[in-house]
Amino acid sequence: MENRDESADIAPMAAYEIDPQTSVPEVRIQAENEIPKTPGTYLLFLRFSGHARISVGRLGTSDFVPGFYGYVGSARGPGGLAARLRRHAVKTGSCHWHIDYLLPQSEIAGAVFAETKTRLECDWAGWAQNFARCEVTGFGASDCTCRAHLFFFGKIPDEVPLIQQARKDLHALYASRQLLLAC
Ligand SMILES: [Zn+2]
Repeated sequence: MENRDESADIAPMAAYEIDPQTSVPEVRIQAENEIPKTPGTYLLFLRFSGHARISVGRLGTSDFVPGFYGYVGSARGPGGLAARLRRHAVKTGSCHWHIDYLLPQSEIAGAVFAETKTRLECDWAGWAQNFARCEVTGFGASDCTCRAHLFFFGKIPDEVPLIQQARKDLHALYASRQLLLAC
């Protein structure tokens, strides 16, 4: 894991506690909380509550420090965004994509997503890069020229502003883990 900012203005571990009550205003998603079954782009938010050393397939082993992460992906297959996001949320256990290796050891906070006809994941990765402390080099970016599609946003005590910024800048909706599971 590459770390660009070693000046450590990150809050010390003790000051970072995940607040299970933290919530982002959820958008009423179409009919009865339905996530679109159409193709789209998404930014999945993960939390690591402790250190984790994870072998990520061919990418090798990476160390994950506690904090808040974002993974950018495209849903192009059957069932579109609904199927893909639900697959992440339920943690199927199979390891098809890099992200699958992380899911057993992290907690999904939710996702922002947008119905997009074209693949915008690399554009969204560019957005995330601007807000990230560092990226996990190569992660999720095997077939593009991005440095990564997984970003570490830091040990921020309040992730809500970041999610709200993502919604605004990416013209996206937000769904909590509960909504992802309900779709
Ligand atoms: Zn890319």
